[in-house]
Amino acid sequence: MILRLQQTHVDLLRNHANDVHPVEAVALLFGDLPQNEAVVKTVTVVANRLGSVVKFEVDPEIVVSAFMDAEKQGYEFIGLFHSHPAPAVPSAVDLKSMKLWGDAIWLILSTTDGELGAYQLTDGNLEKVTVITK
Ligand SMILES: [Zn+2]
Repeated sequence: MILRLQQTHVDLLRNHANDVHPVEAVALLFGDLPQNEAVVKTVTVVANRLGSVVKFEVDPEIVVSAFMDAEKQGYEFIGLFHSHPAPAVPSAVDLKSMKLWGDAIWLILSTTDGELGAYQLTDGNLEKVTVITK
């Protein structure tokens, strides 16, 4: 799987993560899903209602309204972004949450080394997603 982002999306996510640091930043990614690719078209920043530096949770109503806005624009849900103060791989808590989000792509920004990593659960297996920014 390949995740394609525009540089403006990456800038927005990094800036947002810096703004709310050390609280974990969260955003939803929407766009097109052609074969084996996810092309991000829009990024919706959402508040981490836990205000936590180690985990995140989003308001379901905000998620639903973001999904409806994206649908109006003809975009599909690609996945979710969050920052955490550890390497850019899913934590044990993330892995549990990933099971609830089906085949969503998880884009993670490490606030310790600035790396971006993306992962997806496919048939229960954690797979690395290639991130391409242009
Ligand atoms: Zn995490």
